[in-house]
Amino acid sequence: MIHPQIEKLIIVQVKDLFFQKLQQELERIPNERAKIERLIEEEKASIELAKSELNSKEVERNDLDSQIKGKESDTAKFKTQQLEVKKNEEYRALTHQIEQAQNDISELEEKEIAIMYSIDEAKVSFEKAKSDIDERIARQNEQLSQLEERLKQLKEEIGSAEGVYTESREAVEAEALEIYDRTKAQTKRPPYIASIEVQNCAGCHLRVSNDVLGLAISGEEIITCDQCARIVYKT
Ligand SMILES: [Zn+2]
Repeated sequence: MIHPQIEKLIIVQVKDLFFQKLQQELERIPNERAKIERLIEEEKASIELAKSELNSKEVERNDLDSQIKGKESDTAKFKTQQLEVKKNEEYRALTHQIEQAQNDISELEEKEIAIMYSIDEAKVSFEKAKSDIDERIARQNEQLSQLEERLKQLKEEIGSAEGVYTESREAVEAEALEIYDRTKAQTKRPPYIASIEVQNCAGCHLRVSNDVLGLAISGEEIITCDQCARIVYKT
């Protein structure tokens, strides 16, 4: 037979566990939020990295471009000088310099073409990566706002769950509540009240003593498992 106060304590336990579950969910929220925010930061950093790689290619291209312009103006300068020189060997020397500059220009132009291709490729893959990342960031922001929504909801639910729990305690005698609170402190993990199945506590699954079994069957007092200290009852 189950002690009437234990019946009431079982209701207290249900309300208590529901209240605890909401509290635990509330406690997890800052961590979950931080995790999502960290992911967003990582995504943004990877965009920045891709962008800076693209930029360094652009810088390289601009550098080649100004080298080519320099060589072109050298060539023009040599050609002007050629019109002014009197000696053949000076003329030939300038011809040689012009050829050298033109060779350099061809080499630089080849490099520039290669880098332009690689910029085009990098742009395409950057745009693709960026749109994937933007999509993921949008989803993560959506998760953040859902989390904020849940947080608001939880705060309200917790208030009412606590009220319901407190109210359920009011229906129980002080002595029984004391045992419940002590059991809760000792076992730490729910359930705090367990049935006895045959002769085993359903909380710790260990065999209870004959004394405990006998008292549980009589239902005359609130007794606890001699193995795990949970409140036990026998129906
Ligand atoms: Zn036990």
